[in-house]
Parts: sequence; C-alpha cells; structure tokens
Amino acid sequence: MQDELNSIEENEVLDKTISLKINNKIVCAFASNTPLSISEAIQYTVDEDYQEKRLYLDFMTHELGKEVLIKRYEFFLQNMDDLAGKTLSIYLDINLYRILFLTIIEGELNQEVEYSTIMYRFDHFQIPSEKNDHVIEVEKGATVFERGFVTSGRVTPGNNRFISSCDFCGKFFMFRMFHVGFSDVDYYYCDRCTNYLAVSLFDQKYDRLLDKLSAKRISPFSQPYDFSDYDIQLNLENYQLIEDHFVPCTCGGQFKYLANCLCPYCKSPYVDFFNDIFRKADHYYVVEMVVPKAESFYGEKYWKDYEEDD
Ligand SMILES: [Zn+2]
Ligand SMILES: [Zn+2]
Repeated sequence: MQDELNSIEENEVLDKTISLKINNKIVCAFASNTPLSISEAIQYTVDEDYQEKRLYLDFMTHELGKEVLIKRYEFFLQNMDDLAGKTLSIYLDINLYRILFLTIIEGELNQEVEYSTIMYRFDHFQIPSEKNDHVIEVEKGATVFERGFVTSGRVTPGNNRFISSCDFCGKFFMFRMFHVGFSDVDYYYCDRCTNYLAVSLFDQKYDRLLDKLSAKRISPFSQPYDFSDYDIQLNLENYQLIEDHFVPCTCGGQFKYLANCLCPYCKSPYVDFFNDIFRKADHYYVVEMVVPKAESFYGEKYWKDYEEDD
C-alpha cells in the first residue's frame, strides 16, 4: 500500500465529471480535473409529498454529453420511517485512489452531532478512471474489514449503521456491528437465516464445553502456522460438540460457529467464512441485520439441556 501511495502523483485529479442525483435530480457535481482528495457536504430536504420509504442516490459520470450510471445506493431510515419532509446531511469524500465514501445523517448541516445521532454509512466504491490504475475491488463474501467498514485498531462506534447490498441479488439492507471482544461473547449464526446466538465467555456451561477436547484454541489473530492439522481438527470438533447443545433457531435452522452471515433476501453469504476457522475467529465483529431485522439470542436458555448438570 505504501508503495502504491508513493506512486500516486500529488496532482491527482478526477478525469471525468461526476454528479450525484437523488431520485433523478442532480444535487451535486464535481467537474473533471477537480483535484483529489475531495470532501463535500450537502443538505437535502425530501419533498413533503414523497411517498416512498427509500431514496435512490445515483452517481453518474458525464463525458461528451453521455451520462453513465456508475453506482446506485438506496437510503432508508433504520426504523423505515417516512422520508417525506426530512432534512438530510450528506457527506461525500473521495480519496486519492478515487474511492468514494458516503455518509448520511438525519438533520441539518453543521448540526451538533451527538453520540446518539445515527450515522448511515455505505459501501465505498472506486470511481472508474481512463487510466484505470489502482483498481480496488471487493470480492464476493468479503469480510467487514475487506469492505472497509472497519479499520483494525479503531473501534466502530455504536451509532453507525451500514447500508450495503448483496453481492448476489443486489438488494440493499442495513446492519449494525458489535465488537465481540468487548462484549466477551462468541457468536454463532443460524445456517438458514440472519439470526445469531451470542454466548457469554463467562457462561460456565460454555466454558466447560469449550474445554472438553482440551484443544489449543484458535482465537482472533491466531496464525495458521502455529496450529497443527490435529489442533485445527480438535477446534472444529469442539465447536460441533457445542453446537449440538443449542436449541434450533426460531426458523428451524441451526446455530453454527462456521455459519456465514447471510443476505436477508436471497440467503447467499454476505460475509463468507469459506469454512475457514481462522477467518471466522478473526471476524471479531457480529453483523446484526437491522433492516430487515434479525433476531439475536443471548445466553442460557439457548442450551437444550440447561437444567442438566453435566
Ligand atoms: Zn434461523
Ligand atoms: Zn441477496
């Protein structure tokens, strides 16, 4: 990354005109040759008679009178409230790599943003360039780190909501994230829906079960080369043993350590762990769907045999 950064010329510019349309009306534009990076904030008020619960934000390029859609975002509120008459502050940042970051806050520009103010953040995307250099693509099933929603070493604030779209069906959904390390839990997604089970690391039954195979535990930042195939197998078997003790999800699915975070619509993986226990252990954020809402389950009553003393 550092080498790439050094190779970027200081006079990096947009090589095409970029505009943002909301519901088909241009609200903001950057002319070609605008120097990077760019930070811009605009205020937008939705029409009083607006009927839909979503806004459509389209980024367009303009060249020789031709207009091309390069990215569409959908915006909606976390409680799916009506948008009619709402004022929004829209923040756009385009960095030296032409990566565009979009954040929306309900309310007027320059308002005092309190800790409880919800910040809606979106997938970043890279504005195409004639030179087409420094192409940064996000793979299907990418983690929240690979998607740029989390930077290691920086805790994602609780007031952030992420609006993203499925890599397979393209539908937009909203989620929030919890740092499992700070909550002292392990999480198990349902293998059929977006629900998840969080188990406290202080749960005595969990502690006993985790220790049952005396496996050398794979945890965040564990390196595969520190673990023999036997160690890895023991970890996998230990989680399977634990999973057998959980009651099923309300949808009938099973909570599994290696179950993926699914798209709420088509159930394709959104974060795919690819059955890699290291990738899962390293994903120390739970993605909790807010729209459409997932159920989360905590603790004790999720043991099938909680009353038993084993
Ligand atoms: Zn389920
Ligand atoms: Zn989908």
